Amino acid sequence: MSVKKEHVLTCPNCGHQQKLMIWSAVNVTFDPAMRTKVFEGEINLFKCEECDHESYIEVPFLYHDMDRKFAVHFFPKHSIKNVEFLQKFNSKGLLMTEDENLKFEVPQYLKEVHIVFDMNDLVTYAVFREMLYDYQNKKMTD
Ligand SMILES: [Zn+2]
Repeated sequence: MSVKKEHVLTCPNCGHQQKLMIWSAVNVTFDPAMRTKVFEGEINLFKCEECDHESYIEVPFLYHDMDRKFAVHFFPKHSIKNVEFLQKFNSKGLLMTEDENLKFEVPQYLKEVHIVFDMNDLVTYAVFREMLYDYQNKKMTD
């Protein structure tokens, strides 16, 4: 499932207030259009209607592909210094499933969510898994 919430944000450049839909999880199997948005860097991006200022809203974000059986989770870089954040992980660096975006569905691959601290890395990892999926499925039908 996808998780989103509308927020009213103030432009840091000109003070203009506008609404932005902030996504904390996207399931691209249910919402294929969101895959494109993530790949194009359009997700959680604040674009001011008044002054064109753009800034990325850093919130934890889960990307989930049920068809290709992988999930990748972005966290803002500053989270690393936060004890509450560190408590979410086991000693192998795996995210434990109390994460509210994950508790609905817990197949094995969701227990091994790939963690990134950069949205570009999230996209690169998703591309890697898509290429790998295509390659491995092609090999099986050859
Ligand atoms: Zn502005």
